[in-house]
Amino acid sequence: MTPQHEVVIIGAGFGGMGAAIQLKELGIEDLLILDRENDLGGTWHVNRYPGLAVDIASVTYSYSFEPNPYWSRVFAPGAELKKYAEHVADKYDLRRHMRFDTVVHGARWDQDAQHWIIGVGGGEVITARYLLSATGFLSQPNLPDIAGIGSFAGTILHSADWEETTDLTGRKVAIIGTGATGVQLIPQLARKAETLTVFQRTPIWVVPKVDFAIPAAVQTLFARVPAAQRAARSAYTTLLEAIMVTAVLHYRQAGFLNKIATAAARTHLFAQVRDRSLRAKLVPEYSFGCKRPTFSNTYYPTFNQDHVHLETTPIARIEPGAIVTSDGVRTEIDTLVLATGFNIWDTNFPALEMIGREGRDLGKWWRENRFQAYQGLSVPYFPNYLTLASPYAYSGMSYFDTIESQMKHLRRLFGELRRNGAKTFEVTEQANTEFLDQVTGRLGDSVFYRGNCASSRSYYFNQHGEAALLRPTPTRTAYREQNTFPIDAYTYGRLN
Ligand code: NAP
Repeated sequence: MTPQHEVVIIGAGFGGMGAAIQLKELGIEDLLILDRENDLGGTWHVNRYPGLAVDIASVTYSYSFEPNPYWSRVFAPGAELKKYAEHVADKYDLRRHMRFDTVVHGARWDQDAQHWIIGVGGGEVITARYLLSATGFLSQPNLPDIAGIGSFAGTILHSADWEETTDLTGRKVAIIGTGATGVQLIPQLARKAETLTVFQRTPIWVVPKVDFAIPAAVQTLFARVPAAQRAARSAYTTLLEAIMVTAVLHYRQAGFLNKIATAAARTHLFAQVRDRSLRAKLVPEYSFGCKRPTFSNTYYPTFNQDHVHLETTPIARIEPGAIVTSDGVRTEIDTLVLATGFNIWDTNFPALEMIGREGRDLGKWWRENRFQAYQGLSVPYFPNYLTLASPYAYSGMSYFDTIESQMKHLRRLFGELRRNGAKTFEVTEQANTEFLDQVTGRLGDSVFYRGNCASSRSYYFNQHGEAALLRPTPTRTAYREQNTFPIDAYTYGRLN
């Protein structure tokens, strides 16, 4: 009845690596990290589209315990993140735990054996005492179900499946999607394409991006005086917190901050686009913050170029060589770029079939009840399981704050298992319900419920209209709560 591994982690991105670092620090070496891709890095391995960069300043978008003084820009390009992931894997000796090209289909809790049975591609079965899924929030690409898309005869590129050798020079390109990815991609596509048509269904709020190359002297300072980089990190987190957390989560009390952010985005647009009718098309109707706002200095000016056209008439169908809008206009194209994002609520929560105690199916249960997870990590009826990409888990700020606060939770939970000699844990229904009440109560003041989000089509909202993605607490509170949750939020057991 002894499982093959003490811990299996699904996902070799920053979330899975953070969890592995924490468990190794606790002395757990028998851990296996599975990933469906052929290398580590998660999002930063998969996404390779031109213009890819972080949209949270790099000084913050990294593990606080593993600062990188050598980011080349305030917002580092994606390739540097991939390199950083490799550095972390080497330094913390994670590679030997990793197994790639391994698709996990699902997992089932074996109550008799008190371990997880994990089904992977090729019919193989792996068993583990503890299972952690770190499959990320944005890992299941959304492919739009547009009539005729299958008949398109040209090149189709999804932002998360970019063919790097593709040269778009002289091509007639269309892009569908104006989210954070579209905002990064569109200026890059315009540089190469002969014509670029941007099909926008919902505009996005865009604010100026304070981005520049970090001088070598500053990099040296960060390398020699880590406290200087820590201070920069802390200052940026505070600023971001004011914009992203206070203006969004405390919309009722601090609506003026939201108004300032809206004014900044409107002024940015006004300064960069002189054509009044074009400007009108680019202004969202929904409140700032309903959808993740984005930063760019090059997005708006792209639409001033003669070979770039913004199309807001809905798409009716796609033909082998064209996109046809509902007014009957045909736009001939040879390349279709899909910046259509990811499916969180249908295919990502959870990203695999999870069957817990008494046959409970996590995906079904979440959909039939409310999306919920205690501290954004654990669910009743799922013993010895932590799901890192969960409802109410993501702080909305640097993803590393979410990862590191979850690492604190792991340390406390696995520390308690060791202290009392237990082998199983399961969150109590009471702790889970109290947490759900707490987060939904806090969200009552947020822009999601107090603002005008009806037209935003934001992935922050699930199919029931609940904004069940973000953890509505300041970063410091998230750390404190993950560090000090009541030990009796879980029940603990020894082996039968
Ligand atoms: P997204 O925000 O979900 O945007 C998807 C876009 O595709 C939206 O404009 C959406 O329009 C459009 N779309 C989807 N299906 C469509 C259809 N059938 N017809 C027409 N339009 C359709 O996805 P994303 O831009 O990939 O960004 C997702 C998240 O990734 C971001 O919020 C951010 O957190 C992250 N990201 C981060 C970075 C970074 O620098 N770190 C960069 C890129 C992305 P509607 O709005 O009308 O649905």
